[in-house]
Amino acid sequence: MASLRIRIYGDPCLREVAEPVDEIDDEIKELAADMIEIMYENSGIGLAAPQVGIGKRLFVADTQEQEGPNPMVFINPSIRNQSGTSTMEEGCLSIPDVREDVKRAESFDLEALDLEGNVVRFRADGLLGRVILHEVDHFEGKLFVDYLSPVKKIMVKDQLRALEKESLAASS
Ligand SMILES: [Zn+2]
Repeated sequence: MASLRIRIYGDPCLREVAEPVDEIDDEIKELAADMIEIMYENSGIGLAAPQVGIGKRLFVADTQEQEGPNPMVFINPSIRNQSGTSTMEEGCLSIPDVREDVKRAESFDLEALDLEGNVVRFRADGLLGRVILHEVDHFEGKLFVDYLSPVKKIMVKDQLRALEKESLAASS
């Protein structure tokens, strides 16, 4: 899996629904390790498998709120009991140079598996909560720019079109 690359807006794999991970085998562990590397190389705080062309429900994150690297891996996450709303600026490694405010739930219950297959459960909020909601959207083929108001969409239209062209050129 040495040739993973970040897929850019316009790449069809970003619009596909991802499959659950059915077994945490060596291939999945290697995928997670590669994704963590790619996330750090690109100074990201989250990266979902569909963003590197793998249609699996796995994402990696490091909100960098603690000192030193603290990579987290979430497998087959589910989100329940969303409450409140908060607005935060978001970006996406698949949509370079576009950053916009997005309104999402303020907190929710997360359940997922870690890389050892342990069930992880907690009430998520703040920056990590935000990253989780953003990454889980990638599993449904959803991108943060989908939430923008019609006016904001018009404002980023040219940027998105340029990315689409770039993406098409990279895949041909
Ligand atoms: Zn993203």
